[in-house]
Amino acid sequence: MAKINKILVANRGEIALRILRTAKEMEIKTVAVFSEADRNALHVRYADEAALLGPPASSQSYLREDKIIEVCKDLGVDAIHPGYGFLSENASFAKKSAENGIIFIGPSPEAIKTMGNKLAAKKAVSHYDIPMVPGTDHAISELKDALKIGKEIGYPLLIKASAGGGGKGMRVVSKAADLEEEMNRAISEATSAFGDGSIFIEKYIESNKHIEVQILGDSHGNIIHLNERECSIQRRHQKVIEEAPSMVISDQQRQELGEAAINVARACNYTSAGTVEFIYDKGKFYFLEMNTRLQVEHPVTEFITGIDLVREQINIAEGKPLSVRQEDIKINGHSFEVRVYAEDPENNFMPDVGTLSTYVRPQGPGVRVDDGFEQGMEIPIYYDPMIAKLIVHGQNREEARLRMLRAIEEYEITGIKTTLPFCHYVFKHKVFIDGSFDTRFVDDYFTPEKLHQANDEEELIAGIIATVVGVDKKSSPKNNKNLQAENEYSAWRKRTND
Ligand code: ADP
Repeated sequence: MAKINKILVANRGEIALRILRTAKEMEIKTVAVFSEADRNALHVRYADEAALLGPPASSQSYLREDKIIEVCKDLGVDAIHPGYGFLSENASFAKKSAENGIIFIGPSPEAIKTMGNKLAAKKAVSHYDIPMVPGTDHAISELKDALKIGKEIGYPLLIKASAGGGGKGMRVVSKAADLEEEMNRAISEATSAFGDGSIFIEKYIESNKHIEVQILGDSHGNIIHLNERECSIQRRHQKVIEEAPSMVISDQQRQELGEAAINVARACNYTSAGTVEFIYDKGKFYFLEMNTRLQVEHPVTEFITGIDLVREQINIAEGKPLSVRQEDIKINGHSFEVRVYAEDPENNFMPDVGTLSTYVRPQGPGVRVDDGFEQGMEIPIYYDPMIAKLIVHGQNREEARLRMLRAIEEYEITGIKTTLPFCHYVFKHKVFIDGSFDTRFVDDYFTPEKLHQANDEEELIAGIIATVVGVDKKSSPKNNKNLQAENEYSAWRKRTND
């Protein structure tokens, strides 16, 4: 067993801080790395030591494999935690770390490589009885082959890049006549984004839910699952709101999903934390892919299971067996996460970078904020525009939902547009409340005017209340606006009802 005394976190922002915090609780020394754009970032201040990697562009900083290994050697680092994004799913970096005597906190390079390619992943799991979306299990380059598949499985089809990720390189084809053009587009998109133009075809499942299963595997052959997360509220095929557990999965299905996920992990001798993604349609689920790293949305699983996934990753990397068995995993209540992106929901969710003029986090029972910023800081244009993750926990879904609405209302951010108003809208929406929402939510139910309508309705109700009880609405402070009015309103209601 290898004792880890010092960890370098090869990442930035909220995830770097989140990992540093667990390392501190485990009394492990920490090293942060940073680019010139992140000199004053919180993760740099939090770590015991910090090293500059280079200019702001990721290619010159957070993606510099050799420079990061050099820092590890200079500072006596035992292990690297890659977080998510950047080098986290880079098999050659994992290999290079091991070759230099540094533990990579994650799965083996072989597992990363297999699961990093959607076709290789499908092949690896084909020996197990895992349900898959109808489609091809090999790369397609000839139009005639694609047309043949189209005939077999029917339209609409989805062309996907084998090396794809982040929702890139996917094209929906609604009829045979469009196939050639869409195929050519997908190949060129995949070539420029991933340097690999291999594409394949799947049946396009029009209304689906995204369900994924958290798994943990150790180097002693133990693999367990920590139940599912539902991540169906997405824009541009990317998640914005996640929850655990999903309200549409029965106990029986939960067990089946868990077993399927464990088999996927088994297919590549998986160690560390990983996520097996499925799409779910009309009671059936199909394997999509496996992500061989910590996911952005891992805190909802931490809330319902009480397990610190980063701590487990570090223990596994040291060669320890898992601290829990499958039968110890219970679901405690319900958890939601919203991703607070510096994006303008009124302008097609375009990034909106700038300075956080006001930044006040919500607090109170059952609320967790994972972020990497403070008031007055600038959101750099070079990286992912996520400012924070707001996570809540409640005894049941409704308690957690109302807690999330309360926390969003407490969150004060000015200077930058964020996804918070959109999330507030979702948490009040009927189909979100009743669970019937799917990945098409934004297309089906959201237009920018909805945000104004919601505000107008609130204003209108507040106005009516104020008039009824004779309160000057304008004189109430912004954040507890109408608190007094509401109290008086309830008292007034009570009296009239008596
Ligand atoms: P990426 O690796 O680019 O994130 P995924 O395979 O994980 O791609 O899919 C991302 C999202 O795209 C899923 O959450 C789902 O909403 C949608 N998607 C993927 N495959 C299909 C499919 N066959 N039919 C319909 N939607 C799909």
